[in-house]
Amino acid sequence: MIAGTNENEVQKKPLNFIESIIEDDLSNNKHQQIYTRFPPEPNGYLHIGHAKSICLNFGLSENYKGKCNLRFDDTNPVKEDVEYVESIKEDIKWLGFNWEDEVKFTSNYFDKLYNFAIKLIKSGDAYVCELNAEQLRKYRGTPTEPGKESPWRNRDVAESLTLFEGMKNGDFDEGKYLLRAKIDMASPNMHMRDPILYRIRFANHHRTGNTWKIYPMYDFAHGQSDYFEGITHSVCTLEFEVHRPLYDWFIDKLADSEYRPQQIEFARLNLTYTVMSKRKLLELVESNFVNGWDDPRMPTISGFRRRGYTPESIRNFSDKIGVAKRDGFIDVALLEHSIREDLNKKADRVMGVLNPLKVIIDNYPEDSEEYLDAVNNPEDESRGKRKVPFSKELFIEQEDFMENPPRKFFRLGIGREVRLRYAYFIKCTHVEKDDAGNVTKVHCTYDPASKGGKSPDGRKVKGTMHWVSAKHAIRSEIRLYDRLFSVENPQADKEKDFKGFINENSLEVNKIAMLEPHLKTAKSGEQFQFERKGYFCVDKDSSLDNLIFNRTVTLRDSWAKIKNS
Ligand code: ATP
Ligand code: MG
Repeated sequence: MIAGTNENEVQKKPLNFIESIIEDDLSNNKHQQIYTRFPPEPNGYLHIGHAKSICLNFGLSENYKGKCNLRFDDTNPVKEDVEYVESIKEDIKWLGFNWEDEVKFTSNYFDKLYNFAIKLIKSGDAYVCELNAEQLRKYRGTPTEPGKESPWRNRDVAESLTLFEGMKNGDFDEGKYLLRAKIDMASPNMHMRDPILYRIRFANHHRTGNTWKIYPMYDFAHGQSDYFEGITHSVCTLEFEVHRPLYDWFIDKLADSEYRPQQIEFARLNLTYTVMSKRKLLELVESNFVNGWDDPRMPTISGFRRRGYTPESIRNFSDKIGVAKRDGFIDVALLEHSIREDLNKKADRVMGVLNPLKVIIDNYPEDSEEYLDAVNNPEDESRGKRKVPFSKELFIEQEDFMENPPRKFFRLGIGREVRLRYAYFIKCTHVEKDDAGNVTKVHCTYDPASKGGKSPDGRKVKGTMHWVSAKHAIRSEIRLYDRLFSVENPQADKEKDFKGFINENSLEVNKIAMLEPHLKTAKSGEQFQFERKGYFCVDKDSSLDNLIFNRTVTLRDSWAKIKNS
């Protein structure tokens, strides 16, 4: 059928390479149902790169009516924590995804993995090695030179079994013994040169406590966990491509059926003006460059949430960037474009003056006030209208007034007339100044016939400005954010510490902003467009006595320009 001939048929996007593999596998009956997983290590909060992986894995399972596990890859007790487990679950739910059954943990499989290691020792495919870290490095060789076999490589199977059991029982110090696979020290692939399977670690694990004295390495645990869970498509990032032969080697040794999970690699998301590794983000948190993992400048999901990003904007962004096979950078302007696009539809418009300048309407009756109609969202009529108070004294933005403006300045100046949004035409007559010569008050007259901001006689004004009534206004703290780093790629120069590129002006705190009164009762997380000033949301620390708004993003969309250039 020709696309579009059926009303219900949506124009289909071309398949990405992972979808192609899946559709082939389903049509060839290699699998009846697909099963994916998202496997974070609980050693930090999730970032926008993880969001890409979440949207991909959970998205595939949604689109192909399959299943997707959330599996914590908790094999390194030294760096892991329940705080991270909880935050990761919250972030995935917030993005709008659900995992299959209960949450999975690699630590659930510690027994199975241990038994599998024993099987490998018994079949002569693994041995206990005594080389220390320094020696291991030397024996490993380089990408161009083969490695050297460990003197313990041909140790008796029975002896390896006894030592391995001793390792498990905590009979030996950390570093004394390792369990290694016996593969090929001359392999051109360094990962195949007798990789480490287990090491001794006397650490408290966040789930298994002190039960285990040995912990499996990522490569040994990961593919096997996929196998235990029946994962069909194990989607991961490109750096694991070189691990794939090892992934397959383990599963070939382990499998007792035809079923194999398939590892498929895609390019990780890199975003300009930020860093995206949990280790580096932890460094920013611990050295107090930011105020915690959910600081709105952080590229974490919790940071974006607090800043006012919506789940839809992140999912749309993830869709737009697609799935690539080669690493590259995505311009952060595209992410900002996605949130503008979403909030444009959803956020009610309000008026807020960030840097107030007092305006006095000299011909407006003293002590009088009125409530004027304002449209909540021109993109969505169903959002209706609200009443905005107007009175003799108002605030406008300082930048909207110039005493002696150039001709092209279309806002307020002495002798000039402008429109106050939803209110009246006003004309400036004179100003008051302080001793230093700064304008402190702007005197105007208003035209009562221009109510609602409509021209009474066809005369035109060039500027339309936002404002708030001084006696009704509420004061709020406003946090304005800029990019966290001052260069596109803070990690471009491996010799330099990325923290040297931090943008010193990434946070500006404004405590003098004046807002429309009804914002007083806005709830934490609620989003608004402050006309002409951007999208803002109520911060989680905001309260009735201390209102705090975060600016999510300005209104200026640089993406359209980039896209068309
Ligand atoms: P980090 O280096 O930030 O700690 P990681 O890859 O070590 O990242 P994991 O917790 O192991 O973090 O990642 C869980 C999943 O998220 C993995 O499948 C990983 O490939 C994927 N992932 C991590 N970073 C990105 C990224 N920038 N883009 C896409 N997927 C990512
Ligand atoms: Mg990792």
